[in-house]
Amino acid sequence: MSGRLVLVSTPIGNLGDLPPRAVESLRSCALICCEDTRHSGKLLSHAGVSGVRLAVANEHTEDARTDEVLGLLAGGHDVAVVTDAGTPGISDPGMRLVRAAVDAGYSVTAVPGPAALGMALVVSGFDTTRFVFEGFVPRSGRERGDRLAEVAAERRTVVLYEAPHRAARTVADLAAACGPDRRVALARELTKLYEEVWRGTLGEAVAHLAEVAPRGEYVMVLEGAPAATAATDEQIVHALRMALSGGADRRTAIATVMGATGASKRRVYDLALTIPR
Ligand code: SAM
Repeated sequence: MSGRLVLVSTPIGNLGDLPPRAVESLRSCALICCEDTRHSGKLLSHAGVSGVRLAVANEHTEDARTDEVLGLLAGGHDVAVVTDAGTPGISDPGMRLVRAAVDAGYSVTAVPGPAALGMALVVSGFDTTRFVFEGFVPRSGRERGDRLAEVAAERRTVVLYEAPHRAARTVADLAAACGPDRRVALARELTKLYEEVWRGTLGEAVAHLAEVAPRGEYVMVLEGAPAATAATDEQIVHALRMALSGGADRRTAIATVMGATGASKRRVYDLALTIPR
């Protein structure tokens, strides 16, 4: 019988969140693929797991690790995948090993557990019946503008990850894309001593982050865009003029107004064409 690839979720800050079944899986596998052997080594010693080999499978080495992992599975050994925190494969390595194992016909399973996105979503206070996970938005360029415009027009609740040193800029760009009145929850340091969920509008969030200097890890949960029916053509043209006179280029102005009104890209674009350059 061949072995199984086991994705094992680990705590996102509180070691008490390591599920007992995770410890059992880590203890009984032949190899643990991890992002950082020192980091995961500490978790293993906390869990009382010793004698299992750790190997690095991070964003640069995950592909190179594949042959070894498939070889162990072929030999009937289980292989575990962990990351520094949370669920492997969610904005973290794991997906490529899963694909390789699935393609080769091996069984893939998971020990479910902590993931920052699920916790942030359920404590946000926003609609949890339909949501999208955007992970990290691109850092710069056209890709970033396009993604923010998509996020702004999204009717479902949106969950985003962000590094602390980019949180203020991303919130400011979201406020520009969605309009300052859209509500957001900033979930910080989840499960840790200084866990905090700040709730307010994007405009208020910009001021809040300017005051507190972002620290720790952030998940941003954004309320979905409002229904498109409310805005008239006149209101959209007015909003476009305001954005353009505030210094935005046409592309940004269109994205901002789409986000603020919930109107379709086509409609806002066509109305933008009626404004002389
Ligand atoms: N695989 C992880 C998961 O399941 O959530 C995500 C890893 S991703 C590289 C790291 C990002 O997750 C951080 O930048 C932050 O947005 C979010 N994150 C992880 N732990 C968190 C925590 N304790 N509180 C808030 N956000 C957290």
